[in-house]
Amino acid sequence: MAARVALQLTGVERHYTQGDNSLSILKGVDFSLKAGQTVALVAPSGTGKSTLLHLAGLLERPDAGEVLINGVSCGTMGDQQRTAIRRNDIGFVYQFHHLLPEFTAIENIMMPQLIAGLAKAEARERSAALLDYMRIGHRAEHRPAELSGGEQQRVAIARAVANAPLVLLADEPTGNLDPETAGYVFEALEALVRQSGLAAMIATHNYQLASLMDRRVTLENGKVVELD
Ligand code: ADP
Repeated sequence: MAARVALQLTGVERHYTQGDNSLSILKGVDFSLKAGQTVALVAPSGTGKSTLLHLAGLLERPDAGEVLINGVSCGTMGDQQRTAIRRNDIGFVYQFHHLLPEFTAIENIMMPQLIAGLAKAEARERSAALLDYMRIGHRAEHRPAELSGGEQQRVAIARAVANAPLVLLADEPTGNLDPETAGYVFEALEALVRQSGLAAMIATHNYQLASLMDRRVTLENGKVVELD
């Protein structure tokens, strides 16, 4: 059976107005990503990568076109319904970890699961397993400030997948790390994606890391174009 499409964008446009000027960033993006597929979004700064990820993650609404998550069009949904989809079906990783500083690593990963209604013991068990998988089980009780950049980012990745989303969106998740650390964080991310079968779209400037993904795309004249 063919894998289902986890994320689809059709004719997506996004324009910003600055004073009297209108800036067209996305001019009819058509893109789809199947469950279990990974794609690297490799494009220069300012071309609209973050904008695209925000639209795909239902953080913003397009000016035209549609975003479908798991085949369901989200355009006409109210904010509450979009928030529910974002919480259940989408995981985010940013360049900076955005972990809650007053909570430990494991508590940070438990948080979205508790919000989703999982029992505390179950959430703790699942979080511990994710930390082990990311090879930082021994750092579970440390707060973010006590972790290295690579460890913080691995906690952020574990948190993003804690609720077993359908789609993982990452905006330069290793952009803030030295090359060696970036390499192993990216490998951990890739292994996790493979193991869990989610669809992942990862914006990165690193071609070497991008080569680990199933597909590579770029943004050209406001549209998504396949590379190689
Ligand atoms: P990238 O992630 O590829 O660096 P962005 O999606 O962040 O690109 O931004 C694309 C372009 O849109 C940039 O020129 C940026 O200045 C502009 N832009 C992004 N967000 C806004 C906004 N809220 N208002 C006006 N312009 C914006």
